[in-house]
Amino acid sequence: MFKQIEQYGHEGVYFGYDEESGLKAIIAVHSTVLGPALGGTRMWDYVSEDEAIYDVLRLSKGMSLKSSAAGLDLGGGKAVIIGDPKIKTEKLLRAYGRFVESLNGKYITAEDVNIGVEDAEIMAQTTKHVVGLHGKSGDPSPFTARGVYRGMKAGALEKFGVESLKGLTVAVQGLGKVGYELCRLVKEDGGIIVASEINKAKTDFAAEKLGIKIVSPEEILYQNCDILAPCALGAVINSDNAKKLNCKLIAGGANNVLVDNNAGDILVDRDILYIPDYIVNAGGVINVFFETKGTYDVEEATRKVDAIYENVQGVLKFAKEEKLPTHLAADKFAMKRIEEAAKC
Ligand code: NAD
Repeated sequence: MFKQIEQYGHEGVYFGYDEESGLKAIIAVHSTVLGPALGGTRMWDYVSEDEAIYDVLRLSKGMSLKSSAAGLDLGGGKAVIIGDPKIKTEKLLRAYGRFVESLNGKYITAEDVNIGVEDAEIMAQTTKHVVGLHGKSGDPSPFTARGVYRGMKAGALEKFGVESLKGLTVAVQGLGKVGYELCRLVKEDGGIIVASEINKAKTDFAAEKLGIKIVSPEEILYQNCDILAPCALGAVINSDNAKKLNCKLIAGGANNVLVDNNAGDILVDRDILYIPDYIVNAGGVINVFFETKGTYDVEEATRKVDAIYENVQGVLKFAKEEKLPTHLAADKFAMKRIEEAAKC
């Protein structure tokens, strides 16, 4: 366990247990150098405790990098509740809230997979350190989509020398909360969309509302397009399919798009510009950051989300200076800010 913690560089990993509600939870605080460690709580029926630990360590480090690169005064953390979401009760969520509270604000939680706004409201009965509540910053998805759109435009300027997406074909994988809103924004900008979705109701809704072309989930990655936007699950691009993509630029909402660095290296060899996932999909955490400050202002949050455009330009410039592929440059760019702050 300590070997893994050392490898990721965590400050602390905390285990919470409550016999009465059956709560088993892990909070991983990767870094508090820039501010409190913020990241959502995920509930998942992990096949083993090792798998849960691996997930929470990996995801919490990702949050440190995302917030740092976005220029937020936030550290990185994440939590997992181990168990089938069917065992999620109010008692369990209140016990979990007490666990979060016991860290005295070192960790701030929010929604994630299988934990929604309603669950966060229950946690708020026993902890002050929960964000994304009703009537405050709310659903982060529209902000995430807006950030992806802004990052995509910065990528398009770099790759195609254009200020708008007009006439460019964008292939969108997943028409969920982020993917649908991204399609709407791209269409508004004159982009041509081709999309896929495994849920028929969502496919029909998007086709009717936006009039976009739909292809099968098997075909989407290989569409002849200018931009590919993965907005479904993570780990979609591997060393195998990276050789078969027919896009010139990748910018999407999904986390951990590349399976490994080798996939990223193949994109470089094929002259496909990859805009790192956590640089473009930071809109949600940017929005929630303003709730942590206690004075949430949607206009202020939106301005900062729009600045993802400049953040992408900064990372692309840094990648050129460092002669690094973008996926490695982003990590170095994000870590640099944390390391410099740690020296003070
Ligand atoms: P969502 O669950 O609303 O949407 C995901 C959609 O992808 C679903 O409609 C699902 O049916 C579809 N899907 C799953 N597998 C698919 C496949 N193989 N082909 C086509 N469609 C498929 O989730 P979301 O909130 O829109 O998030 C999308 C992605 O962005 C996720 O990876 C998420 O982790 C990431 N992300 C979201 C936010 C946010 O604010 N919501 C922030 C950062 C990152």
